Amino acid sequence: MARTGFYPGSFDPVTYGHLDIVARSARLVEKLVLGVGTHAGKHSLLDVKKRVELLEHVTKPIAEHTGVKISVVTFADLTVDAARRANAGLIIRGLRDASDFDYEVQMGQMNGALAPDIETVFLAASPATRMIASSLVKQIAQMGGDVSLFIPKEAQAAVAAALKN
Ligand code: ADP
Repeated sequence: MARTGFYPGSFDPVTYGHLDIVARSARLVEKLVLGVGTHAGKHSLLDVKKRVELLEHVTKPIAEHTGVKISVVTFADLTVDAARRANAGLIIRGLRDASDFDYEVQMGQMNGALAPDIETVFLAASPATRMIASSLVKQIAQMGGDVSLFIPKEAQAAVAAALKN
């Protein structure tokens, strides 16, 4: 069976930091499934359909370039259950700083306890994109700042449209 990775997140919106993790994950797996979390109570700027559409669009060049099959799903339950549905043996997460580290390692260990057959792999953020966070991108965009260094142009348009509403 093809080695499959599951990369979960909010992707609200997708950033160049996420894309860095996707591109580097493509070296580790033959199939990569991106999971857009739609958990109740988590407020998002972009609706889930838009987040999926953007991810599909902006990951296509990576799939074409690497030959890795990339798909996007949504999930509202446990990450480990969504990873199992995707037939993934790996959960992939990115680490930017110490606060990501503390949170992600704890979560990875709890997921490991829930699903010992699934390994969580942490990729350290690349220097050029390490500072990018979806939450800050939204704040900057809301105040009229230029976010073109941080997110692809399709995502910029989607954020601008969502902020208008
Ligand atoms: P979540 O709500 O699950 O944290 P995010 O979309 O914010 O969703 O992030 C998804 C994953 O991508 C997390 O593992 C996060 O640490 C990672 N990530 C986010 N931004 C970056 C970045 N700039 N570089 C590397 N990893 C990142």
